[in-house]
Amino acid sequence: MNPENTESPATELPADDSADRLLAIRAKSILTLAGEGPARAARLFAPLKKIDNGVLLVRDGLVEDVLPWSQVRLPAGALVRDVGPVCLAPACVNAHTHLELSHLAEKTRWGRGFTDWLQSLVPLLGAAPQTDAVENACASLALYGTLYVGNITGSLPGGTVLADSACNEAGLTVSHFCEWFGYDAPFADNERPWPPRCRQALADDPFLMARCAPGGHALYSTGPEILAAARQDCARMGRVFSFHLAESPEETQMLTTGDGPLRAFYDKVVLPQGWEAPGLRPLAYALKLGLLGPGTLAVHGVQLDAQEVEVLAASGAALCLCPRSNRNLGVGVAPVREMMESGALLCLGTDGLTSNRDLDVRKEAVWLRETLDVPPEALVRMLTVNGAAALNVLDCGAGRLEKGGPADFCVLPEILTY
Ligand SMILES: [Zn+2]
Repeated sequence: MNPENTESPATELPADDSADRLLAIRAKSILTLAGEGPARAARLFAPLKKIDNGVLLVRDGLVEDVLPWSQVRLPAGALVRDVGPVCLAPACVNAHTHLELSHLAEKTRWGRGFTDWLQSLVPLLGAAPQTDAVENACASLALYGTLYVGNITGSLPGGTVLADSACNEAGLTVSHFCEWFGYDAPFADNERPWPPRCRQALADDPFLMARCAPGGHALYSTGPEILAAARQDCARMGRVFSFHLAESPEETQMLTTGDGPLRAFYDKVVLPQGWEAPGLRPLAYALKLGLLGPGTLAVHGVQLDAQEVEVLAASGAALCLCPRSNRNLGVGVAPVREMMESGALLCLGTDGLTSNRDLDVRKEAVWLRETLDVPPEALVRMLTVNGAAALNVLDCGAGRLEKGGPADFCVLPEILTY
């Protein structure tokens, strides 16, 4: 192969591809994000270093180098694959999804607000998850170039083991957030606050437990002492604590005044007798419970006002935006511009298939680019290095294409390239 020949056709990999041979993946351009840390505020918008007519050199699944084609000298026996006029970037991070609910795709009501969606979802939560749906969801993630996943689990019996094995099968690195739903707290002071649905699976498999962290659903659906205990446990164990925050107007209404449609619905589902609203907006209540700070990954933030965005950013908590899910349910649009300028650590997630058409997190970025004119530099960082930081997997090589790290990449949609 002549590296000077920029017109050379794509070379198909032979079937007997050997793991230790050098593989050269050539593309129109490559963004490596090498050396970058999590990006906040102005750093989000800094130019990305782009290698035009680039080659990703891979050996044994690890990055050997990333170079312009003109500088590549391939040894004999190297394999070359030209992937054409596309821009490669590090594999994406989908920081928030619900894999075990995948079989409920197209079974919930959208566009009439959060409570209406919830009313359509809750009756469907009795049955066990479906293996083929979870496996297909995981396979689709890998196909989209998403190899790092923050997965909410604990919603359905058997869901944690199923989602974990499907992730492993698809080659995904997964962080499970074991979501406690409800106000009963049957755990002793000396026990870790694992939700009841996850406990047996975690007791049976310490390796699975190492991929899990206790978490809560939301400020109105999980008991405050459970949320606080889960957050403290995560801080003690160096794990990420995640929960849904300020997703819908009904959530704000329920927490501030104690009434509204969400209160009426949850009175029948989960609230203890005589539940009283804290009388605080979601962010203030989360702060009061000690839930915010470094190591927390809050999800949504749609209802935050400008001042609350500043408080969230100052706390050091990360925020995962799920804009297509928010659009589909009709809960509003997050104040993304204020969030980006605030210095908050921002990343992206799809939420689950009960509120989104697919789990392609790149489409969240495309939506933000097209709808809110968010610059591509910020979106690429949210998809990669920021998501990796939010899930605390930067040290695993996630979010960057660096020498010696995993050679995991995605193809960026054209609207995110420049
Ligand atoms: Zn969610």
